[in-house]
Amino acid sequence: MISDEKFQEFCAYLSDIHANLKSDQQGKVASYIPELKKVDPNQFAISVCTVDGRKFSIGDYKSRFCMQSMVKPVLYALALEENGLSHVHKHIGREPSGKNFNELTLNDEGLPHNPMINAGAIMSCSMIKRKSNPADRFNHIMQALYKLADSQKITFNNAVYNSEKETADRNYALGYFMREHQAFPKNTDLHRTLNLYFQACSIELNSEILATIAASFANSGSCAVNKQEVFKPETVKNCLSLMYSCGMYDYSGEWAFSIGLPAKSGVSGGIYVVVPDLMGIAIYSPRLDKHGNSFKAIEVCKRLVERYSIHNYDSI
Ligand code: GLN
Repeated sequence: MISDEKFQEFCAYLSDIHANLKSDQQGKVASYIPELKKVDPNQFAISVCTVDGRKFSIGDYKSRFCMQSMVKPVLYALALEENGLSHVHKHIGREPSGKNFNELTLNDEGLPHNPMINAGAIMSCSMIKRKSNPADRFNHIMQALYKLADSQKITFNNAVYNSEKETADRNYALGYFMREHQAFPKNTDLHRTLNLYFQACSIELNSEILATIAASFANSGSCAVNKQEVFKPETVKNCLSLMYSCGMYDYSGEWAFSIGLPAKSGVSGGIYVVVPDLMGIAIYSPRLDKHGNSFKAIEVCKRLVERYSIHNYDSI
């Protein structure tokens, strides 16, 4: 637990970092989903929420953005809770792919490498409430997010959903490729599964809400604010392990080495970082680096670990 004084000091440092990086223009907004490139590229927000529910935000923290790949850990956690570890991993591996997040590739067993890349997240979707109708399946994902976020306002961006669906050739290709390899559980409806994935990527929130979700992960799966359990600690442990090794696309190895914390990024320009038992941090800035991670978000995290001993192995 952090004292109030330490927390204030931490927040002041975040404000300094924000001021320092605010005018940086490096990186490019994602454009392969047309709707994503319509955002103001200069938006920049940092939010933090501790496991005991204290919050701080700076910058454009009310600006909404869609979750994109940041929803993948939640999809994986839902698949795990419903199906159990061994069933889920009959269909998804747990190794970093060493490839782009949407690379048309599967592991030696014909399965997606891990749940943090597109193929793996599509596979997670196939295991979420598979017997229910599409509306109930989508609501189930929304409910989990609401609970993690202490019922803050999480919405759905229909324009992004349509834009995403219209330009989803690669995700369709991944779906057919996996079906060809009989990777899906029996009787999976591929189109419903892909639709659920597109919808999940189009869920919208802001950095303040995302930090609360990250804090609930840091709090072993119980909401950091109201303490209600959403995911079992075991589920969160598995999820964080894969966020640690695979959460930052093709930068995941370097990230684990230099930042040493579980995190997940999305092409909309958000990332969230989980500091177990301490806090969740969310950063939003849409300009991306060559790996597809938010340029400023990576910078913020580098500066945080320079000053604070939050790297997983800092205690050594
Ligand atoms: N919806 C995006 C896609 O499927 C998610 C990718 C991402 O954020 N990396 O391509």
